[in-house]
Amino acid sequence: MRLDVITIFPEYLEPLNVSLVGKARSRGVLDVRVHDLREWTHDRHHTVDDTPYGGGPGMVMKPEPWGEALDTVIDSGSPGERPVVIVPTPSGRPFTQELAIHLAARPWLVFTPARYEGIDRRVVEEYARDHEVLEVSIGDYVLAGGEAPVLVMTEAVARLLPGVLGNAESHRDDSFAPGGMAGLLEGPVYTKPPEWRGHGIPEVLLSGHHGRIARWRRDQALRRTARHRPDLIAGRDPAEFDAHDLRV
Ligand code: SAM
Repeated sequence: MRLDVITIFPEYLEPLNVSLVGKARSRGVLDVRVHDLREWTHDRHHTVDDTPYGGGPGMVMKPEPWGEALDTVIDSGSPGERPVVIVPTPSGRPFTQELAIHLAARPWLVFTPARYEGIDRRVVEEYARDHEVLEVSIGDYVLAGGEAPVLVMTEAVARLLPGVLGNAESHRDDSFAPGGMAGLLEGPVYTKPPEWRGHGIPEVLLSGHHGRIARWRRDQALRRTARHRPDLIAGRDPAEFDAHDLRV
């Protein structure tokens, strides 16, 4: 997968060199290219922002450097190859595991993390004419810039790429995953030692009985989801739950 990030703070993306994403890069699974938006400015001050039409506080990112940057990045691909353009913004659709799975299946993503009050709207309109452009929010809060959201989304997507996680099965039972836990939150996990500061571990996990362990894990997932995220259960088809689930 190729991944381009256009930003006025390229150094903010340095964590993409470490841990899981860094390893994916060094194994050649991910080709990450970070670009400085100011390279596409032409004045002495490398200006990327201006006052908002209609007045009001804050500044808005100018369309011209974004247009030149996006044209250059997109034109660097093979003829006809079109990336998905991802615009981080608190006013976008929520970033979910489902969206991460969708993006992990795409060969090329271009992120446009903004600063100030965001990017002049015409940039989204321009590229939406012939690209998939997704405005995406990582949560109901406002950050100072889109670089941290890019790190969040990149990590969520990269761990789904084949060959990135040591055990390909390990995201199957994750919270929100459509597989094993059917979109529920994952329950608690334990490792050795069997006793720590007077805390033991649930007996069933030592039983070696796969059926009982699976049942216990599902019960825990249901309880935790009902407590922390009842919205993930409400409105689901009751046929998805068996009689035991409903008692939990
Ligand atoms: N005025 C904007 C609003 O209220 O929607 C907020 C702009 S914010 C200060 C600057 C930039 O940070 C955004 O354009 C976006 O790139 C990024 N950003 C901030 N919060 C975000 C979030 N929750 N999800 C994704 N991007 C975010």
